[in-house]
Amino acid sequence: MNPWKEALLRIDANLDIEVWPRVENKDRVTFAVCWNHPKKVLDGYPNLKAVTSLGAGVDHLLKDVAIPKSVKLARVMIPSLKTQMGEYVLNAIQNYRFYTARYVDQKREAYWSKHNPVPKEDCTVGIMGLGEIGSAVAEWLLVNGYEVNGWSRSKKNIGGVQCFDDSGLDEFLSRTNILVCLLPLTKETSGILELDVFKKLKPPAFLINVARGTHLVEEDLIYALDTKVLQGACLDVFEEEPLPANHLFWNRPNIMITPHTASITDPEEAAELIVENYKRSLSGIELLNEVDRELGY
Ligand code: NDP
Repeated sequence: MNPWKEALLRIDANLDIEVWPRVENKDRVTFAVCWNHPKKVLDGYPNLKAVTSLGAGVDHLLKDVAIPKSVKLARVMIPSLKTQMGEYVLNAIQNYRFYTARYVDQKREAYWSKHNPVPKEDCTVGIMGLGEIGSAVAEWLLVNGYEVNGWSRSKKNIGGVQCFDDSGLDEFLSRTNILVCLLPLTKETSGILELDVFKKLKPPAFLINVARGTHLVEEDLIYALDTKVLQGACLDVFEEEPLPANHLFWNRPNIMITPHTASITDPEEAAELIVENYKRSLSGIELLNEVDRELGY
């Protein structure tokens, strides 16, 4: 059985669940559970009341014109999404600091050459987006002894983190060596990781993009690496996924690539929240983690 269907039925065995593409009667569907679904599949569900994303991101739902504006949108937010992301980002920072990728290459060549780790003082982290995940990552990095700055639309108050709002972007960047993108993908944030931003970082600078591929202007990253504006990058998300085999990024030793695995939703953990939102949608009340369509997240 589909693992999601299994997990949802464990919460409520009476749920009537159909798994796309085998939907017998579209009229009976009131609630949809989606992740990167193909375009147009949500056409023709006249009684659809709400759709939930299986992950934290909702850009795939917001860009689907087949979902009427009257349909409520929600997302999954569970503790493990935050802890996984914290561990991923910390690991990316440590790999950069301790030259892990370079030593893997050196081993292949049986080549012995030492590099001093990048000192922690040169690794002040700046997190773009201090939402559910960004603020948890900030706190995790603090626990691990990193200095952390954060930037968000509205100013946050997180103990130990130097927080900046929208107007403080330049100051945030000038105090940051390692830039971590944890923004939602919206009209305002698309293409935000571009050369002018990289140039404002405090050298030596490094980029970690774990949000969405379209946040990054890919050719600007290549230029920034070639001109040493950035020392390297760790990317989990890409404009096109899977990343095409002939993409420039594959041959860059200073770009670490992971296949969109930074933080993965566990069906067992998410099922209770999804069932709760299904019931809320039937009662017509506000959903948990409901998306603000105007803001785009
Ligand atoms: P949230 O919606 O909880 O938080 C978003 C944050 O971004 C908020 O702090 C918000 O500011 C800020 N923000 C939004 N727009 C702007 C803007 N224009 N300028 C400045 N700040 C802005 O998101 P999450 O923390 O849950 O998740 C962030 C993203 O991480 C997801 O959208 C998804 O793309 C990505 N993700 C990636 C995964 C992976 O495996 N690679 C897994 C899970 C998530 P304010 O607080 O003021 O509203």
